[in-house]
Amino acid sequence: MGSHYDALLQHLNDIHNLRMAAAVLDWDRETTMPEGAAASRATQLSVLARLAHEKFVSERTAELLEKAEVELNGADYDSDEVSMVRIARRDYDEAVKLPAEFVAEMTRLTAMAHGEWAKAREAADFAAFRDTLKRIVDMKRQEAEYRGGGEHPYDALLREYEYGMTTAQVKEIFESHKPALVELIAAINEVKDRVSDAPLRQPFDIAKQREFARSVIKAYGFDFSRGMQAESIHPFCTHFSRNDVRITTRFDPNHLNPALFGMMHEAGHGLYEQGVAPELDGTILDSGTSLGVHESQSRLWENIVGRSKGFWKWALPLLRKAFPGQFDDVDLETFYRAINKVEPSFIRVEADEATYNLHIMVRFELEQALLVGDVRVEDLPEAWNAKFESYLGIVPPNDALGCLQDVHWSVGLFGYFPTYALGNLLSAQYYAQAVKECPEIPEQIEKGEFSTLLSWLNDKIHRHGRKLTADELTRRITGQSIQADDYIQYLKDKFGEVYSL
Ligand code: ZN
Repeated sequence: MGSHYDALLQHLNDIHNLRMAAAVLDWDRETTMPEGAAASRATQLSVLARLAHEKFVSERTAELLEKAEVELNGADYDSDEVSMVRIARRDYDEAVKLPAEFVAEMTRLTAMAHGEWAKAREAADFAAFRDTLKRIVDMKRQEAEYRGGGEHPYDALLREYEYGMTTAQVKEIFESHKPALVELIAAINEVKDRVSDAPLRQPFDIAKQREFARSVIKAYGFDFSRGMQAESIHPFCTHFSRNDVRITTRFDPNHLNPALFGMMHEAGHGLYEQGVAPELDGTILDSGTSLGVHESQSRLWENIVGRSKGFWKWALPLLRKAFPGQFDDVDLETFYRAINKVEPSFIRVEADEATYNLHIMVRFELEQALLVGDVRVEDLPEAWNAKFESYLGIVPPNDALGCLQDVHWSVGLFGYFPTYALGNLLSAQYYAQAVKECPEIPEQIEKGEFSTLLSWLNDKIHRHGRKLTADELTRRITGQSIQADDYIQYLKDKFGEVYSL
């Protein structure tokens, strides 16, 4: 490649590595750091964020970008080089809108807020977190102003996580499938006693839980020579390179689901990161393209594969072996129904597939209302509870089960929640396409073979990294933009069977 491009690439890779170093500190904070280090770690993260930001928004970046753009003018849109410059330009134009001081202050505030939120949540004491949340919301409002663009202030925040998607589009796609969800949940509610999840709620040895879940994700194709699994309060996936992908798990000694399905979920994210093309390693393209597409991968492995009957034809005998005596009387049908029990509940991360997107719609509407001032932070608990009742028919008994449950707002993630629901929709849309192209996939899953599915995902999605936007990717793969039809059909088929509707 030309010399200007090479200089730009080196410059961007340096910035990328600063960010990856910060990600290692972040991983450490979540998994091993002693509580007393909160303030010093906040400073360290803030310094790294500032250095990376200053370097990225510098004159040098602008100059190198302009020269590389001229040099590559007319080259192939899909090439690594043109993609690198295109995405760097997009990131740069976005990043220069934020003053370095603002970025450092936001990083410092949210690094401290995380601990305050955790304590407030533990004590179910919203008042203990209220003032900090107010400062965060004020800063997010300021950030939306700095970023600008779009019809709604929320557009500017959404763009960070789901580039190309607007608030109006999200609203439309949510409205397009909300009635079908509400109808399905009501139909299930009529016959809710047909399914029990009792087999999943027994004492389960934690070491055995870990071993079994790890064997499942290994079978999926998660490469432990380029990844690892640890424990944290809130499960997540992070990566410092396609060859260093970290996932975390939370264990419940009396419930099989959190660790098992949680590990499948995080492994889905991990498989995406491990599948990015080697040529993109160490560059700004070395990651998933959007959070919605990322979540499509985690939900696909957790739910579409991991909660399918075919999967458990293979896995139930193995589970019986892992927990002798605990599943001897549980047949495949009963187990399949147990893992697919539908029940309106308070906690999003434990929600079933039918109610999940309603949890997201609550947050999506509240975030917009907070941002434009329709709901004040001090009134958030009441607003949350009212919306929750109207969407899910239940009212949280306290704020730990209500508006304090999620970590996102404490770390400044506004505009992030919709991507979870978009991920659900995309998971069904992509899987339907995969099976259309490779009809042998369901039969292979029954035998514990996942390589055809993983290769398809690698080829169609993973290897591109950030080169293509979510919409470009989805259109190329399925011939159309994101839609809710495949997801609703998937839910109707599955829960029609599980609940004999
Ligand atoms: Zn996820």
